[in-house]
Amino acid sequence: MRIELTAQQKDAQSEFRAFVNEEIVPHANCYEKEERTPSKLIEQLAHKGYLSAVLPKEFGGKGMDMITFGLLNEEIGRGCSSLRSLLTVHSMVAHALCKWGNKSQKEYWLPKLASGEVIAAFALSEPNVGSDAKSIETTAILSGDSYILNGHKKWITYGQIADVFLVFAQCAGKPSAFLVEKNNPGLSIKPISGMLGVRASMLAQLNFQDCRIPQENLVGRLGFGFSYIASSALDYGRYSVAWGSVGIAQACLEASIQYTGERKQFGVYLKEHQLIRQMITQMIANVKAARLLCYQAGYLKEIGDPNSIIETSIAKYFASTTATKVANDAVQIHGANGCSSEYSVARYLRDAKIMEIIEGSTQIQQITIADYGYQEYRTQQSASAGNYQNLLART
Ligand SMILES: Cc1cc2nc3c(=O)[nH]c(=O)nc-3n(C[C@H](O)[C@H](O)[C@H](O)COP(=O)(O)OP(=O)(O)OC[C@H]3O[C@@H](n4cnc5c(N)ncnc54)[C@H](O)[C@@H]3O)c2cc1C
Repeated sequence: MRIELTAQQKDAQSEFRAFVNEEIVPHANCYEKEERTPSKLIEQLAHKGYLSAVLPKEFGGKGMDMITFGLLNEEIGRGCSSLRSLLTVHSMVAHALCKWGNKSQKEYWLPKLASGEVIAAFALSEPNVGSDAKSIETTAILSGDSYILNGHKKWITYGQIADVFLVFAQCAGKPSAFLVEKNNPGLSIKPISGMLGVRASMLAQLNFQDCRIPQENLVGRLGFGFSYIASSALDYGRYSVAWGSVGIAQACLEASIQYTGERKQFGVYLKEHQLIRQMITQMIANVKAARLLCYQAGYLKEIGDPNSIIETSIAKYFASTTATKVANDAVQIHGANGCSSEYSVARYLRDAKIMEIIEGSTQIQQITIADYGYQEYRTQQSASAGNYQNLLART
């Protein structure tokens, strides 16, 4: 077994690193403070083809393999989790349309999403509904050749600037997905500010009041909204967040290594204190373990193995909880400086906590992973009992 990037993947990684170091790292604290992502940066991202990373070349996309897409998310996440969130939600909608959209939806929307002419956001959560997404309260009613949407969506990443939303609503009790454009008169958009982390991700609440959309804006079939469209998009999102969490943890590690080589206490550099070295050791091991889980999930996605879904949950769970632990230690290592806005580690800690809540919280991943574990155990037990029976039958 070899775990090694191809020459092409290594080149792509170097390109991503250089872009992030030059264009993002020096300004990310400022984006956070201003709670906005400059449109010029989004244009740069689009120009580089990063917004179209997952889309096939026939629609103007980069057609990146899943490992390269993961590396992109790690690097952007290392620089700025808010910007990585844009990559996540935009890619989730692009992926959903690519997989479930009809021919004309794909031909109309995908090239626009690929070029960044159109920014997309993913609107599932509501004021009363988060983890229990099947219980969404937003409704869609068919009226003539239109659907009429009523309800509210909350915490919508880049909702302040998105041009189109993939909105989930109940249509006669069937959860379904619809495309709604921002300039629809039945849609009003209210910015949300003052979040704990990913502060530059321009969240919004969406209010639909008798919001009429053409019938052809239904994505997939009625009733496909949750089990197919949201589920596959969330799997993609989870993969992106898992890698983004590795990026946060890597940034914390790098900042801590640098800081402990610069600051002296008790006459020696911090890096000479064994308790500091213990924290650094744990950081290194956890970051590497998280990255390996992401590689595993990416590899399974690349070969179309259905186990990629559970492996992605495991990677997201481990990487996001690791990011929080590592960021917590990074702040500890930086002392008072770590609590100030002069250094980036406080931002990393705030952003890491968000990674534990989005795309299926830590507890939801724990429930899913434990269920999987028990199921695997039962399968193995019955398989070995079967083997034993076969053995008996043979003797
Ligand atoms: C910064 C940010 C950006 C976001 N962006 C988007 C977006 O773009 N689009 C979108 O649709 N949503 C978005 N969300 C919403 C996000 O998806 C939800 O926050 C998430 O699904 C959790 O839902 P909730 O916050 O309502 O928590 P709840 O579901 O109310 O859960 C509260 C707590 O209870 C725990 N819990 C829930 N159920 C169980 C259970 N069965 N057993 C044990 N514990 C449980 C949870 O883990 C959590 O700790 C965003 C959220 C944030 C913070």
